[in-house]
Formats: sequence, structure tokens, C-alpha cells
Amino acid sequence: MIPLVESFYSFQGEGRFVGTPSIFIRLGGCNLGCAGFGVKIDTLIGCDSLKAVNQEYFSHTWKKIDNLIPIINDYLKELDFKPDIVITGGEPLLHYQNPILLDALKESVLKGHRVTFETNATIEIDFLRFPIYKKIVFAMSVKLENSGEPKSKRINTDAISAIVSNTKESFFKFVLSENDVNTKEIKEITKEYPNTSIYCMPLGSRASELRKSDKAVANFCIQNGYNFVDRMHIRLWDNEEGR
Ligand code: SF4
Repeated sequence: MIPLVESFYSFQGEGRFVGTPSIFIRLGGCNLGCAGFGVKIDTLIGCDSLKAVNQEYFSHTWKKIDNLIPIINDYLKELDFKPDIVITGGEPLLHYQNPILLDALKESVLKGHRVTFETNATIEIDFLRFPIYKKIVFAMSVKLENSGEPKSKRINTDAISAIVSNTKESFFKFVLSENDVNTKEIKEITKEYPNTSIYCMPLGSRASELRKSDKAVANFCIQNGYNFVDRMHIRLWDNEEGR
């Protein structure tokens, strides 16, 4: 069994592959809480993926899946090209040893899809035991101080180093508000990985919130040599589900 929060077909809204048609598989559970991002649902506070994070409140809405391949194939049968497959969460690496996920990854890679994991990069992958992960792209959204999580929990240099040294296309992705554009943390986190690209994007779960910080984050990127990237799905559709 693997907990599936939702699946949908859309385009990648952020990171290196922004704009790319993609099938999204969102898995349940996260090892962080990120209350600092300030998204509220009832009395809960967290990130814009709260429904995939908070097991106590939302796990009854997650589907227990014993095979992901038919779910992906249902989208593929409508398409005559190969979209990306994006495994997201929550923190999808919580499930990285799950045979149901491994089967779907092997099938997708074999068919020639680019598969990306959107991860907080705190869970160290055993690439020797699970070599399929060498063929995956990791969007490492390492959390900064603004997440509200302690540094000891949000930064695992062994996990980051394992990803960088075992994969070819992985990259860093950071979320910043207008209050964070003086941060030195990005330099500190990425200094050991000079060949790994860095993307920064504005914080917000609505277009109106993105507008508050987008220019400041863009200027921060220009000054520091980082890539600025928008959150296009939010810009177009706010936080509508299935987008
Ligand atoms: S790590 Fe990501 S999914 Fe988990 S709580 Fe933080 S922002 Fe949300």
C-alpha cells in the first residue's frame, strides 16, 4: 500500500522544468511541518501542501493504492507524447523503498519519461540498493529558516551529497519572501555543490501573495547569480486543486 493524496495531469509550475506537461503523483506524509509558511486550514498551519502533510487530519482522505502504474497509464492513454512524471508530496522520499513506488518508477523510466522527485532532501537514499534513483531528477527544495523548522531537522548534508553525487540533473529550489532576500543560507547550503543549479521562487499560495515578493526575489537572483523562477500554477490558478 502507498498513500496517494491526489494525481492529476497539468504542467510543471516551478523549478527547472517549468511549463513542461507533467503527470503529478502526490504521496501522503511529511517529516517536516513548515509552519513558517503560514498557510491555514481550520486550526492547522503549515505549507500549501498541508493536506498531504498532516496525517492526523487528512489521512482519511488519502487513497490506499497497491499499484500506481494503472493510475499513470490512465493519463497516458489520452496523450500521444511522453509527459514528465512528477512524484511530489508531502515528502515523497518517505516512501522511497516502497515496492509500489519502485515498480512505477522502473516502468516510467523504461518507457522514457523524465521522472522528477520534489523533495526536501532530508532523507538519505541508499543508491546502491536502489539504483533506479540514479535515473531520477531531484528538485531539492531544502528548507530555509523561513520554514520555521530547526536547522538540525531541515538540513541533512549527507542526503544532499548523496543526491548530487549519484544523479546528473538534480537542482536546488528555494522559496523566499520579500523578508528573506538577505539570507546567506542559500550560499551556505549550496557551497559544496558548485555545479548544481539554484532556482529561487517567491513564497505564496495565491497570485496576490506572489506579487508581494516576486520583484525582490528576482533582484536577489540577479545579484547572486541564481535562476529566478515563478510559480506559474499559482500565478494562473491560485491554489486550485488538481493544478
Ligand atoms: S517539507 Fe515541503 S511538504 Fe513538507 S511541510 Fe515543508 S513545505 Fe510542506
